[in-house]
Amino acid sequence: MHKSRSAARSTLSLLRAPPSTVSRSPVASTSTITSSARTLLTSASSSSLNARISATSSSRSASIAAVRRGFATVTDHPASPIEEESAEAEEEVERAEDDVDVCIVGGGPAGLCAAIRLKQLEAEQGREIRVVVLEKGGEVGSHILSGAVIEPRALNELFPDFMNMDNPPPMGQPATSDSMRFLTSTSSFPLPHPPQMSNTGNYILSLSRLTAWLGERAEELGVEVYAGFAGASLVIAEDGKSVKGVRTGDVGLDRQGKRKESFEPGMQFNAKCTLIAEGAHGSLSQIVQKHFNLRKDCDPQTYGLGIKEVWKVDAEKHQPGKVTHTLGWPLDIKTYGGSWCYHMEGGLVSLGLVVGLDYQNPYLSPYKEFQRMKHHPLFADLLEGGECIAYGARVLNEGGLQSIPKLHFPGGALLGCSAGFLNVPKIKGTHNAMKSGMMAAETAFNALHPDKEVEITKNSLDQPLEGSAQEAVDMSPYETAFKESWVYKELNEVRNLRPSFHNPLGLWGGMAYSGVDSLFLKGRTPWTLRNSWEDHAATKKASECQPIDYPQPDGKLSFDILTSVSLTGTNHAEDQPVHLRLPKDEGARARHTETNVNEFAGLLGRACPAAVYEYQDAEGGAADAAGKKFVINSQNCIHCKTCSIKTPTQDITWCVPEGGGGPKYSRFEEKSLYRLFRMLINRLVSSSTRI
Ligand SMILES: Cc1cc2nc3c(=O)[nH]c(=O)nc-3n(C[C@H](O)[C@H](O)[C@H](O)COP(=O)(O)OP(=O)(O)OC[C@H]3O[C@@H](n4cnc5c(N)ncnc54)[C@H](O)[C@@H]3O)c2cc1C
Ligand code: SF4
Repeated sequence: MHKSRSAARSTLSLLRAPPSTVSRSPVASTSTITSSARTLLTSASSSSLNARISATSSSRSASIAAVRRGFATVTDHPASPIEEESAEAEEEVERAEDDVDVCIVGGGPAGLCAAIRLKQLEAEQGREIRVVVLEKGGEVGSHILSGAVIEPRALNELFPDFMNMDNPPPMGQPATSDSMRFLTSTSSFPLPHPPQMSNTGNYILSLSRLTAWLGERAEELGVEVYAGFAGASLVIAEDGKSVKGVRTGDVGLDRQGKRKESFEPGMQFNAKCTLIAEGAHGSLSQIVQKHFNLRKDCDPQTYGLGIKEVWKVDAEKHQPGKVTHTLGWPLDIKTYGGSWCYHMEGGLVSLGLVVGLDYQNPYLSPYKEFQRMKHHPLFADLLEGGECIAYGARVLNEGGLQSIPKLHFPGGALLGCSAGFLNVPKIKGTHNAMKSGMMAAETAFNALHPDKEVEITKNSLDQPLEGSAQEAVDMSPYETAFKESWVYKELNEVRNLRPSFHNPLGLWGGMAYSGVDSLFLKGRTPWTLRNSWEDHAATKKASECQPIDYPQPDGKLSFDILTSVSLTGTNHAEDQPVHLRLPKDEGARARHTETNVNEFAGLLGRACPAAVYEYQDAEGGAADAAGKKFVINSQNCIHCKTCSIKTPTQDITWCVPEGGGGPKYSRFEEKSLYRLFRMLINRLVSSSTRI
């Protein structure tokens, strides 16, 4: 175990680039330091991953083999022009393969708790189990937005009495007070705070740091954690009836999908059980749900976009442990959402705004709503004299219980926010994600060692499966365990709150219903309100809506979007295939531009919280349609997934870029001098570009 851990660590250390070698402007057209360092690094680490796997698997029958041996893959970019070329090239590719017991895609709270629980069972039951975790972030935790309030219930089940561990988790600051307020543009009023929303016993912490801590514990127990390696496609049995593992993305392809000198084919992990823990709207999660029709008996999933900043505030204004949530301004009554403000340890404050992605007005900019929100006296008084040190954005599931798909498929299962376990009114999903990972791990362990049943629930498989699926690991007891767990109970209780905002009175109707339900009914109603449509379908045509006049940022409380993006540390090797893909046919770009510009006023230019999309004025052949050229600054992407959810034409597919690319949310713990230096450089670069 030690050997495996240190080998994995040396792979990790290769992946960690010194910031100076990979830093770049978030603006596509002005990228400064580009791919060479990163490519060398990624290529080196990919080779060393292969070498490590060969070394550790000599006793485990791993092999370097041609891939085509009875498997098909389902890629995350079925419409990509690259696929054809790669498929052609693939015949010649020697791809490293490795056989593992469990392959987990996603090193977030759900995936890591699953990995840890599997290894705990290995130790308890004396049965060896090989567990691999693939994480697309350059480091474990780097794609996890910091500054959250966490319920410790699941953590306590995984590590009882965790505060007395030799190396306790970084639990930050205990929550000390709670309030809910309603905002008008100039004032705020207290609202009743339902008891089940209480934060007593919860912790305000950096979720990125907690996730990194879970990653360390997983490695200590013998889990092989590979950060910087994205799961790019699923390995499907030839008859299509079961999942047989995961393939990581190729590295060293240029923008056109051609191999560069640094080309390294992705690795194939053949797994008895594949657990998908990618968080909300994951790319493989979407594919597996479609392939196995997992959503046929549930409502559509709906989402909110959470935009978050972390501020260092004046010591006098800082009230450690204070938790505030708001409803109302700056959003109108037809737009669901609300803000949070958490006083963390160390003089830091996490604040942010969630905007339901079923918003109707295509002129709305979630980023600008958040920027203007900070000028409200409730926030301005707190932030004045402080410094914004981190920015990030990510979608969260809002569909609740009625939007959770079937959780298992032959050969694996969906975990955490990949399935959609977030408690929307609480804006909390970490505890549920962790618990789901633990339940999935117990099911997987039982399925792999049927003579060593771990008590979670009775096996509920009554239906025999056909074909190769019969041989696939059966994860159906995980679904039963979920329905018998406290996660289900909690989600059932709040299931009607979010959908109650779909009513003719908007905010007023939703607040009235949720007040009564959460204070008195507590979900004990015979009815369940439905989520009837996907978010993009709620968007109205621009001709039916009014443009919104947002104030200019003042550079003190509010910022332009590129300044904010520079705080995410996002980075993608420049010369790689664009990971935001339109359909491959020639007319796709023109069709997209025509409809999105003419009918929806170029919605993506406002919806994306990282200024990735632009519809630039253009003439003649330079225009795609409607006098505009559609530009995708993919390097800026912070992996929030909004575009593929909200685009009215539903023609943007988010695919994993080369592993290691994307935001670095753990960066806010870097020394502030270095941070200021980076900001200055980014400002200088971005001032010479168009916005
Ligand atoms: C703005 C915002 C505020 C929130 N506030 C709170 C809060 O205060 N309290 C709370 O409890 N919860 C909060 N949540 C919810 C919480 O973040 C999630 O419920 C929780 O992180 C879910 O854990 P997960 O492991 O399922 O997914 P994630 O935490 O999203 O982790 C998924 C991991 O998988 C990786 N990944 C994705 N795709 C791939 C791939 N193909 N290959 C390899 N790796 C991949 C990602 O990089 C990521 O590291 C908030 C969420 C948001 C967006
Ligand atoms: S391109 Fe899409 S996924 Fe990336 S930051 Fe913009 S909206 Fe989010």
